[in-house]
Amino acid sequence: MSDKQTFAEIILPLPLDGTFTYEVPLGWDLKVGQRVAVQFGKRKIYTGIIHSFHHNKPELYKTKFIESILEEEVFVLPQQIKLWEWIADYYMCSLGDVFKNAFPTALKLESDTFVKLVKGKEFPAEEGISKNAYLIWEALHHRSLISVDEAADILDLKSVIPVLKELLDYGLIELDERLIEKYTPKIEYYIQTEISLQDDSLQDVLSELEKAPKQRELFFQLVMRQQQSSKPVLASKFIKEFGGSYAILRSLADKGIIKFFEDTSDRIQEFDEDLHDIHALSEHQQKAIYEIRTNLKEHDTVLLHGVTSSGKTEIYIKLIERVLAKGKKVLYLLPEISLTTQLTQRLQKHFGNQIGIYHSKFNQNERVELWQKTINNDYQILIGARSSMFLPIQDLGLIIVDEEHETSLKQNDSKPNFHARDTALVLAKLEGAKTILGSATPSLEMYFAAKQGKIGYVELSHRFGGVQPPVMEIIDLRRAQKKKELNGDISMRLENQIRDTFKNDKQVIIFQNRRGYAPVMECKSCGHTPYCPNCDVALTYHRLSHQLKCHYCGHSQAKPNKCYQCKSVELETKGIGTEQIEEDLLRIFPNNSIARMDVDSMRKKFAFEKLIKAFENREVDMLVGTQMVTKGLDFEHVNLVGIIRADSLLNFPDFRAHERAFQRIVQVAGRAGRRKDRGLVLIQAFSADHKILQYASQFKYHEMAQEILYERRDFLYPPFVKMIEITFRHKNRDRCYKTANYYAESLRKYFDEKTLLGPEAPSIARMNNNYYFKVLVKILPNQSAKKVKILLKDALENLHQVKSFRSVRIDFDVDPY
Ligand code: ADP
Ligand code: ZN
Ligand code: ZN
Repeated sequence: MSDKQTFAEIILPLPLDGTFTYEVPLGWDLKVGQRVAVQFGKRKIYTGIIHSFHHNKPELYKTKFIESILEEEVFVLPQQIKLWEWIADYYMCSLGDVFKNAFPTALKLESDTFVKLVKGKEFPAEEGISKNAYLIWEALHHRSLISVDEAADILDLKSVIPVLKELLDYGLIELDERLIEKYTPKIEYYIQTEISLQDDSLQDVLSELEKAPKQRELFFQLVMRQQQSSKPVLASKFIKEFGGSYAILRSLADKGIIKFFEDTSDRIQEFDEDLHDIHALSEHQQKAIYEIRTNLKEHDTVLLHGVTSSGKTEIYIKLIERVLAKGKKVLYLLPEISLTTQLTQRLQKHFGNQIGIYHSKFNQNERVELWQKTINNDYQILIGARSSMFLPIQDLGLIIVDEEHETSLKQNDSKPNFHARDTALVLAKLEGAKTILGSATPSLEMYFAAKQGKIGYVELSHRFGGVQPPVMEIIDLRRAQKKKELNGDISMRLENQIRDTFKNDKQVIIFQNRRGYAPVMECKSCGHTPYCPNCDVALTYHRLSHQLKCHYCGHSQAKPNKCYQCKSVELETKGIGTEQIEEDLLRIFPNNSIARMDVDSMRKKFAFEKLIKAFENREVDMLVGTQMVTKGLDFEHVNLVGIIRADSLLNFPDFRAHERAFQRIVQVAGRAGRRKDRGLVLIQAFSADHKILQYASQFKYHEMAQEILYERRDFLYPPFVKMIEITFRHKNRDRCYKTANYYAESLRKYFDEKTLLGPEAPSIARMNNNYYFKVLVKILPNQSAKKVKILLKDALENLHQVKSFRSVRIDFDVDPY
């Protein structure tokens, strides 16, 4: 061993650039990717990840030693660290920002209070001390540390603090303020007795327990239970069945009558149904697979452009099989895992327990368990939304990005603002893996890359089973209005068609992209509209909860009975949300079962799963919902899809608005007529002639793509340029603008008026009492994005020389989406 000092660079969960240097204590054998605890600043302790080692003693400051190693095993793979570095670099954030996002929070250490035994003390034989105190003291002989929560479990008591205090006062235990993992494996207690019905000793024991009838009864039940099977019995289940408590079982254990032991159990439920064989592929599917394989010889990435219901999932399954056969693993990325129970169930039917699902509704402990199982190679396939790409998967062979056009693949609400699809391509490269991007309505970025030959392209334009694509019909709402053919917001045509569909014993899906009852309330006499006090947006009226709500900051207030301004009682609503449509439909179809699917109605855990089941079992005839109903649902009996107001999809202040409107319409249309009978889609719109509605209703993807791509080229938008958006945020509007303006001005010498835009206030200029300004930079194909990023960072540093600018929050968003 060299006697040179060794230093480790450590990644810490801090929004500061780079890694941090610590000295490795002599004789410690550490590995890259291991977790360690280090002290940062005066008091704070953090968990960090070892990034690298070296012998260069920092000259400017005195390094601290690494405090402790958290486990022997490596926790983050070297290629993951490389991916983190790429993300930090490309998306302009710190390595710590990536680390914080990539890691389940329960694996980050915090100071916590646990208790431990004071060694060498006898339990006092005093009257006053409680039985509970004794139980905890005794439990501490089996485990060195017990948390407050665990103590509560052991005693089956809500408040154990008094018991712990008792022990503390007697000097029997002490607090342990060592760093404790938040992650605790779920402990299950089992009980067992060696005494059987046939034993002579049975009678003795029963008489011994004469004075403790509850103990006696539980003991007897346990004997009876073990008569059937000699396996240990789960204590919690046993108590549920026969009553009693852990304390009673403990007393039996103390007397040596039963045995009490613990086992850690898996929280993640195993899949234990029978596995299904893989379907035979249709001719078109086989051809697509063949083309994908051919393409993969030349390209690392293939875009599978398969119309809705063309059977892409079955193709993925076949491809996955191949990869697994080679001993490699698969990462299956989805936009939103909670909306895809149908898909995960289909995959589980084929692959069973080889699949690990990284569910966004998992709690921290479940996440940790999945992380550990992944690094232990317990899974061959990992499925999840964008954060699952941070799982420590070894020997990755294939990444599937399903619904690659979906906006939720981009993380917008917290750092890093990464796009899971684009990052997946980098991950695949680091791993030598292949990537399949799948969509019925590819993003124009990927479509363009395919057309340029940068990635492979395979088209599948037939629905599985020879089913025809649905018939699309646009209903002109202006005409319907004139001819008085509207019932609320439902046209006669749609109403009649719903009736027919029900008559034929089929189901209906209705799509309206706004939730609540109405997006705006207005006073009939003075025109006043209630706005959010914190944001520059009108409040949405929610009729079911009698509230006005802000969909941006969560503010809510009771619905007023009078106008705030002129006190008139004549208030009307403008625009329509899902609640109103549901109300209309309930009025028109009082004898049918109608369910709403939006954020408001799907808040509870499993609400979504339950509704899907009910719809599948045909307990529900019609689903009314927001975007949620457009995504990937596969129901056999849906023959009609109605879009209430397609116009509301078109008018967004975003250069991608048209592309997205096309995608939404085609995706929701794809829910109709997925088996045998041809489906029908009715699109209600005021601007019935709009070219996007025309393209969508004729499934003219290529024409739409070409037209929008021309516009993007002319007006310098992606994929022809790269964009970086810089957002300025401050409570004071003036300071916010001045800062943004100073920043933009300092960059003008490098850009022209076409490539540096702003500062401009976004369409919602104030949110949560903060004002926003944006500066947009466009990077031309002949420019180096790397250099531009350096310019932007340098400009930020210059800006921070001016004190009054420092309080303005500035965020970079690379490839805004
Ligand atoms: P997509 O993902 O392209 O919209 P799906 O994979 O959901 O399409 O397929 C549409 C329907 O056709 C599903 O119900 C699926 O089970 C069925 N299907 C697709 N391929 C096959 C096959 N080879 N054999 C049997 N059923 C299939
Ligand atoms: Zn008024
Ligand atoms: Zn608000």
